[in-house]
Amino acid sequence: SAMREVQVEVPQVRWEDVGGQVTVKQALKEAVQWPQSRADELKKVGAKTPLGILLFGPPGCSKTLLARAVASEAGLNFLSIKGPELYSKYVGESEKAVRALFRKARQVAPSIIFIDEVDGMVASRSQSSGGGDIGSVGERVLSQLLMEMDGLVPLNGVVVVAATNRPDRLDSAFLRPGRLDRLLYVPPPDTATREAIFEIHLRNTETDSSVSLSLLASRTEGYTGADIAAICREAAMTALKEDINASSVSSRHFEHALSIVRASQSSVPISIYEKFMRPGFQAG
Ligand code: ATP
Repeated sequence: SAMREVQVEVPQVRWEDVGGQVTVKQALKEAVQWPQSRADELKKVGAKTPLGILLFGPPGCSKTLLARAVASEAGLNFLSIKGPELYSKYVGESEKAVRALFRKARQVAPSIIFIDEVDGMVASRSQSSGGGDIGSVGERVLSQLLMEMDGLVPLNGVVVVAATNRPDRLDSAFLRPGRLDRLLYVPPPDTATREAIFEIHLRNTETDSSVSLSLLASRTEGYTGADIAAICREAAMTALKEDINASSVSSRHFEHALSIVRASQSSVPISIYEKFMRPGFQAG
């Protein structure tokens, strides 16, 4: 079938594997975990739960990790696809692929369909004004996707979680009520969050007393979670290169790592995100 390649998995990511992001975690618990674990209570008060959630924010700051964590904590099957893949991977079969994706998600419900780089589905659509082939495929895939999303029924156990670095490039049709109507900003890590991320990535690394995680956190302003993971890997490798029998990592190894791993500069100004953070902006 067209969707042979979409794997269904149950991720093994716990909440404590994601540093900080307390607000987003709580929102995801309420939006995804509660409909599973507290369905009766929600029904009693007539609470509406979202069928679609959009995680937006700069690259490397845990959108994917959070999506995997909520699936894992709620015991949901996880089907993951990247927006642009829906064109390239299934040329000529893109709409079928979308239908198959949702069919599979319903079969293995309760489940999450995670669409990463969801803005990548829309770039193609806007090209359609040129009448190109990609454009019309984009148009059709998008409308198929929206149709599938409109067909989801509350509490039937399929939730769509989409992620993007470019909410401004997202087709506004996605944000209509009943579609991606819960918008969650995933910000770059603040100092406390960076310290937590260091702690997580050094859980299995012996560090000596010269290493201060709070100092490392304060020196990594502007670094993403992905950058911090890279620093930790680099520091451990540096220690090993120095002494293959090294039993712990020291501050000088982190110094070296810091001199190599630079803060990745997002090309997207933070101001892009502000518009989507406005409370009044929330669709639905
Ligand atoms: P992109 O937009 O580029 O897809 P993303 O926001 O989805 O990025 P992730 O893929 O979740 O980012 O993060 C990349 C890696 O960075 C993770 O696999 C993890 O190792 C590390 N990381 C990022 N944020 C955190 C965090 N809060 N806690 C622990 N690790 C983190």
